[in-house]
Amino acid sequence: MTATVFSSLRPADGAWDRAVSDLLNRLDAGTAVSGATVAVKLDLSASDVPSALVKALCAALKAMGAQVFVTDCVPFDGDPLSVFGRVRALGFSFDAVGADFVPGDGVKGTDYDLIPMRGGRHLRSTKVGRALSDADCIVTLSRARVQEESWRGVLYAVGFGCGARPGKVDMLTTGQPVVDPDKCIGCGKCTGVCEHGGTRIDPETGKAFIFKPRCAGCSRCMRVCPVDAIHPDYNASDERVCMKISEVAKSMCDHRECLHLALTDDALLACADPTALDAACADLTGADSALRVGIDHAAAIGLGTTDYVCERI
Ligand code: SF4
Ligand code: SF4
Repeated sequence: MTATVFSSLRPADGAWDRAVSDLLNRLDAGTAVSGATVAVKLDLSASDVPSALVKALCAALKAMGAQVFVTDCVPFDGDPLSVFGRVRALGFSFDAVGADFVPGDGVKGTDYDLIPMRGGRHLRSTKVGRALSDADCIVTLSRARVQEESWRGVLYAVGFGCGARPGKVDMLTTGQPVVDPDKCIGCGKCTGVCEHGGTRIDPETGKAFIFKPRCAGCSRCMRVCPVDAIHPDYNASDERVCMKISEVAKSMCDHRECLHLALTDDALLACADPTALDAACADLTGADSALRVGIDHAAAIGLGTTDYVCERI
């Protein structure tokens, strides 16, 4: 099935109200958001989303009968409480956008819901911010761009952005831990707790190691190590990370009403299908095929389609 992506040029005068209302009307957003609690999911890692756009979006949703809050999960790196400073620095205070900011996964990034993953190839469940999970409807506002040779589009904003800290660890890691031999004291607690025979002691060094063919990635060994010698393995391939991000996005969109808007250098685009919208943004931005692994994977697991038509409004 072909999806329709609606687009509106950036207004020259910076007044977003008309463009946002037109796009939401084309998505028939009123049906989805009337009487609903709506989370406007921002991307706080983007630095150039105008607060006037967020304000116009919140106002339009309220006019459609929604109860609105703005949100994003706390940053993966750094002090979780810095999320409030980031909100202020980007100009998304209540006075500026007309809606309260609620941290998606609590002030420390630890408040999440475990959502079963249907049709995923890498994740069996996802850990997403509770405020986002509790919302009746999520309206995402992404800033589509290539950043540090990676595609930061709609699926990234939905998947990685909605993940609580433990969920982000799941996306960024191989799923199996590693042992730091310099820290390991050879106490054997990890071998005692593992039900799969995944941790073993090297008889020569007296240090623990992960026996990967047996490790099921349950993290139990990490929790019992008295010296924090076992930690997640962040050497997951970029492709695998992108695919897992798309799987988290699917878990979000499978369980609630979601609408998506994305800002490019020249236009604001909208679609109910995040995969189609991401593909349209990637085409507009000139992102090459190596950056589209997550988009292709999203279509493969049933989160929308890459087959779209663009309708200018
Ligand atoms: S992560 Fe779980 S399965 Fe893997 S070695 Fe540790 S305890 Fe065993
Ligand atoms: S629990 Fe920690 S310190 Fe003890 S053997 Fe395992 S990795 Fe080494």
